[in-house]
Amino acid sequence: MFSRILIANRGEIALRIIRACKELGIGAVVVYSEADRGASYIELADQAICIGPASPAHSYLNIPAIISAAEVSDVDAIHPGYGFLAENAHFAQICADCNIAFIGPRPESMRMLGDKVAAREIAKKAKVPVVPGSEGEIKDENEAIKLANKIGYPVIVKAAAGGGGRGMRVAHNDISLRNAFSTAKAEAEIAFKNSTVYLEKYIVEPRHVEVQVMADKSGNTLHFFERDCSIQRRHQKLIEESPCPVLDNHTREELCKSALRVIKEANYENAATVEFLLDRDKKFYFIEVNTRIQVEHPVTEMVTGIDLIKWQLKIASGQNLTLKQRDIEHKGVAIECRINAEDPDRNFAPCPGRVDKFILPGGMGVRVDTHLFQGAMISPNYDSMISKLIVHKPTREEAVITMKRALTEFRIGPIKTTIPACLKILSHNRYLQNKVDTSFIEQHLS
Ligand code: ADP
Repeated sequence: MFSRILIANRGEIALRIIRACKELGIGAVVVYSEADRGASYIELADQAICIGPASPAHSYLNIPAIISAAEVSDVDAIHPGYGFLAENAHFAQICADCNIAFIGPRPESMRMLGDKVAAREIAKKAKVPVVPGSEGEIKDENEAIKLANKIGYPVIVKAAAGGGGRGMRVAHNDISLRNAFSTAKAEAEIAFKNSTVYLEKYIVEPRHVEVQVMADKSGNTLHFFERDCSIQRRHQKLIEESPCPVLDNHTREELCKSALRVIKEANYENAATVEFLLDRDKKFYFIEVNTRIQVEHPVTEMVTGIDLIKWQLKIASGQNLTLKQRDIEHKGVAIECRINAEDPDRNFAPCPGRVDKFILPGGMGVRVDTHLFQGAMISPNYDSMISKLIVHKPTREEAVITMKRALTEFRIGPIKTTIPACLKILSHNRYLQNKVDTSFIEQHLS
């Protein structure tokens, strides 16, 4: 096992990784920007190194500064968390070149699966259904229109290098497709410096269902069942739960086995999430693989009782998976609400500032993953997600009741948060009756 690792991230995930390190007896070094100087987890880390000013380009994305910090603190490995450099194959390669283990997949698997066009090909090879669409890149508008007329509208133009819901445009006819094609391409070029786009049939009213998987260096693979992440705003997840409430056991088994076939085909190592869309007829289609730990991993940890971050560390240090698939069970229902510093009354505009009031919820079945404290500053430079509230109960009904209770207990002020929006969703009949899809917020709560 590693003796000391560096965490190339911030916020709640930095704290989450420190906790896993402490329990495994690993030293934890954190890096921080000038804006994060007063962060809570800096006190809990064994060492903390300032790597630059607030702007991510100069700190959390600054590869030379992070590698220097790793060299100075003499760590064996780097955990990238999620976001920032977590899916940057170039960074993973540099870590390898510097003899520092990257806690994640090999650079070549990351590169391959990070390209959604290549990932579709891998899924097809693994005999996993993909959303009907283009064979590869779509080079011009006319090619897009020809294919859209063949597979039928609506269609979605997606960036091959896409992430975070960016570089995606839906089109309902030839005219809107011309527009969607050029805007998706332009957005992809700006956001990812890669304007490659492809086309998929736009699945109407799907649920987003994803499978947590893990693979060790010897090629052993395991799945940890699924998460339903259909409650999204602008293709960004807001509430996640496990298990998916509308999946029958047969479909669940097929879905999980499909996810394993994809990562086996990619010769993958460490944690990944294989994402699917589930259509109204409960047919599932592969959409992409996320080659990192995800924000919503706690719901899986709660229903399976397995610490996923610890397994990431064990696998990266060369240990094999000692668990057997039949030993992994899911018990009860877990729900996670993302608490973002955003103002739902101002179209979810970011709401940074000082946290003057901070009262945490608690009680049976409640878990809060947050780095915040009373007096903390929320910087405008970073993602607005400031806390994750997770509940775990024997049934969905009980989980919803506990989540509503915990959300009302959670007091954060004067900044605005998504707490009221989460409460609204959890009280909505459609949510309670499992009649939601990825368009639920836009259709029923706008
Ligand atoms: P990103 O990597 O940007 O998160 P994804 O491919 O994972 O992009 O898609 C994010 C979300 O966009 C999905 O959860 C779903 O809501 C929507 N989406 C993506 N592809 C399709 C599709 N073919 N049909 C309908 N919705 C889609």
